[in-house]
Amino acid sequence: MENWLKKQAQLNPKKTALILEHSDFTFKELDDSVQLYASKLSTYGVKQHDRIAIFITNSFNGYIAILALQQIGAEIVFLNTRLSKDELVFQLRDSNAKFCLKDDNADLSEIEQIDYPQVRISKTLSLVNDKSYQPVEEFNNDDVTSIMYTSGTSGRPKGVLQTFGNHFYSAIGTSLNLGINYRDSWVLAVPLFHISGLSIAMRSLIYGIGVYLIPKFDETYINKILINERASIISLVPTMLKRLLNNLAPKQKYNSNFRCVLLGGGPIDNWTLLRCNMLAIPVIQSYGMTETASNVVALNNRDAQRKVGSSGQALFPVQLRITQKNNEGIGEIEVKAPNVAKSYLNMPELFRQRMTKDNYFRTGDIGFIDDEGFLFVKGRKDDMIISGGENIYPEEVENIYSKIKGILGMLIIGKRNETWGQVPIAYVILDEKAYLTGQDLIDYGRDHMAHYKVPKEFRQVDHFPQTSSGKVLRRKIYDLPYKLI
Ligand code: ATP
Ligand code: MG
Repeated sequence: MENWLKKQAQLNPKKTALILEHSDFTFKELDDSVQLYASKLSTYGVKQHDRIAIFITNSFNGYIAILALQQIGAEIVFLNTRLSKDELVFQLRDSNAKFCLKDDNADLSEIEQIDYPQVRISKTLSLVNDKSYQPVEEFNNDDVTSIMYTSGTSGRPKGVLQTFGNHFYSAIGTSLNLGINYRDSWVLAVPLFHISGLSIAMRSLIYGIGVYLIPKFDETYINKILINERASIISLVPTMLKRLLNNLAPKQKYNSNFRCVLLGGGPIDNWTLLRCNMLAIPVIQSYGMTETASNVVALNNRDAQRKVGSSGQALFPVQLRITQKNNEGIGEIEVKAPNVAKSYLNMPELFRQRMTKDNYFRTGDIGFIDDEGFLFVKGRKDDMIISGGENIYPEEVENIYSKIKGILGMLIIGKRNETWGQVPIAYVILDEKAYLTGQDLIDYGRDHMAHYKVPKEFRQVDHFPQTSSGKVLRRKIYDLPYKLI
């Protein structure tokens, strides 16, 4: 394919490509800035197929740096700015990046303690231009453009090799679902170093639409954009959506060009959905992972009430199936799509093991597909508990208990047991005013679910371990001190 940015600069030179708080850029202007910066990086010795790490926030400099590295044809290693020092060391060494380009707007305290070649973006801005620099002519489907680490929920993070083809087909799948028109613009409020954020930048280049770049999540500022500007789509995770709703004043409405919230990362509760309905904010729920370069499944607003708990249907170029089904039709979710990544960095064998002979990717998630093709995700395969031959899905049990006032959080874990193989036990965070005993919780469980699903033990803790992207780390829960209740 022709270089996407060059193509848009030619097709839509005067169209707005990037909108910041105090300025905006057309595709021509964006291209000029990006090429200028790419020529400086070229002076610094960055070449096609070099691997360069970036440590950036959602800043103008970060945005330009990504696009400039892409113009040179470098493989960009995206570092999550919330990682600890040890996690950063691991990802830098694992990726063997030539150096790390870091954003002056980011909190650099952790990364600067690390002995690894790194350079501030501000330092490279003053470099002279490399007169011989030329952007890559083509974006080849098979070339890796981004390397993004998984969240590390199930084990150590894996570097996912994402190609131009992956981003392209992901963008096409989303556009065939949403329909894109020349008036569309996307609010980028999720991190650029995560696939949810990077995919918006890639869609902007592929669709030729504008991006509102949000430097940090500030609900008042974002609502102002959604109310007063012509922004039409925003990607969010459920907690962000709730913060936006709580910040809206009565009678405030999003602008007439607004079309939808694209929601990822996990399920949304019914109450929030209902509030969105009352405010005429369409919500599209979705399911995807780093290995599929964004969403593979989406639940459109029109089906939300009818299919509560579903993540939706497979997007157009995506094939979905469930294997190793139990008698309820629940099994492992497998995906075949042109946006499934190329491999894992340094672990091609692990990736091959996750691909079936007929090219389906084993997601490691479990769920079922109903007779209309709607996917219901039940959790991760590794988290499933098998007790006396019966499957227990921790999230199902956690959802049932979440209705009790006074329970602020619950995690269900399997504990080894001689008779049953495993039995479920619960880690709970309780409101300090709640007077709940383990027996109360066992009684409640027995009234609401099959007895084998009811936790045999309730362990009170004051927090749950989390990954840097805010996901609960079940595998680390055993390390926490607890009190039996
Ligand atoms: P790791 O692969 O290192 O264990 P991770 O799987 O958490 O980490 P990501 O690629 O960021 O890393 O997350 C993708 C996962 O998030 C999916 O495989 C799935 O388990 C979960 N997920 C994504 N969307 C949904 C959804 N709509 N409902 C339930 N779970 C979801
Ligand atoms: Mg994963």
